Amino acid sequence: MTQTPYYLYDLRILNDTIQVIKENISGCNYKVHYAIKANFEPRILQLLASNGFGADCVSIGEVRHAIKCGFAPENIAYAGVGKTDEEIAEAIDLNIGCFNVESVEELDIINEIAQDRNAVANVALRINPNIDAHTHHYITTGLAENKFGISLHLLDDVLSMVKSSMNLNMRGFHFHIGSQILTMEPYVLLCERIKPIMDKAVNDYGLNIDYINVGGGLGIDYENPVENPIPDFKNYFDTFKKHLQLPESVTLHFELGRSIVAQCGTLITKVIYVKHCESKQIVIVDAGMNNLIRPALYQAYHRIDNISSKSAEKETYDVVGPICESADTFAENITLPVTKRGDILAIRSVGAYGQSMSSHYNMRQDAETQFIS
Ligand SMILES: *Cc1c(COP(=O)(O)O)cnc(C)c1O
Repeated sequence: MTQTPYYLYDLRILNDTIQVIKENISGCNYKVHYAIKANFEPRILQLLASNGFGADCVSIGEVRHAIKCGFAPENIAYAGVGKTDEEIAEAIDLNIGCFNVESVEELDIINEIAQDRNAVANVALRINPNIDAHTHHYITTGLAENKFGISLHLLDDVLSMVKSSMNLNMRGFHFHIGSQILTMEPYVLLCERIKPIMDKAVNDYGLNIDYINVGGGLGIDYENPVENPIPDFKNYFDTFKKHLQLPESVTLHFELGRSIVAQCGTLITKVIYVKHCESKQIVIVDAGMNNLIRPALYQAYHRIDNISSKSAEKETYDVVGPICESADTFAENITLPVTKRGDILAIRSVGAYGQSMSSHYNMRQDAETQFIS
């Protein structure tokens, strides 16, 4: 058996997920870009690229990796609030599909660098639609004063800048309102904000719009991953079909990360000790927050199953890792079959923001990678 801990990716689940997405967008002028930051495993990227997905990148490292894994440069969008001059220059030279521009200041620098290189940079403007965070606490990126995106009150400024710059080619608008979104209301609100923004660019500035990018953020079922491995893509895409009518020449782009890859990944870990304390029992496993930081960073819930215990008797446990931090806790007060040293636990739904966020804290090794295909 493979050395634990290891990430186990079920490529059959990934493939089923991809097919459901393709079915739901077929016949529409829709294109899905995969947000590489969720998981940059080459076999996952190759499968997505060969199925016609584009790539959404947030660093030049991701842009290079995407190209290496089979994404054509024109199918790459490059977002991020802090692109350096070197990153911008390299991405222009690679001829990527577009920069998702996050500030007036960045737009200015992209224009300057493109001018220096005698090139034209493709840009999409990331606008903050100012969708109320109070209705949904997990929406944190779409507000007016935020490190991400351009505030709506600067729309005229950026449009006139793009219009007057010979080295910028306007492709469209970009929006991204948050993550792990499970109701469609925020997306309906987003659809309503898009039309006036687009009309302004086309009618007041005579700009040509190729596409609208509505970002990602569709959530998954962390509670019941085994029973419900594929998110409700039909409901998601139907929301846009119903609420966003675009001219035929305008493509609708989506930038999904979590909803594509989260459920295909499981972190397999071994129980080192079961520590009996006065008021609780603590299961200490060989995976830590260096392998999976979501519980420590976001208090995220991941379902945990003991896949080796045959015991019908259940007990209550905390499950913790070996790292020297109290935050290195995967679960508190969960019910598992009676668990003992040497048992194997499966931590579910870790295909997104699991391995890609891992570190070497405490000088611990990377988890291995295994596949089911
Ligand atoms: C992270 C990110 C995404 C993907 O978000 P998910 O919640 O994983 O779908 C899409 N677009 C941008 C700009 C992002 O930063």
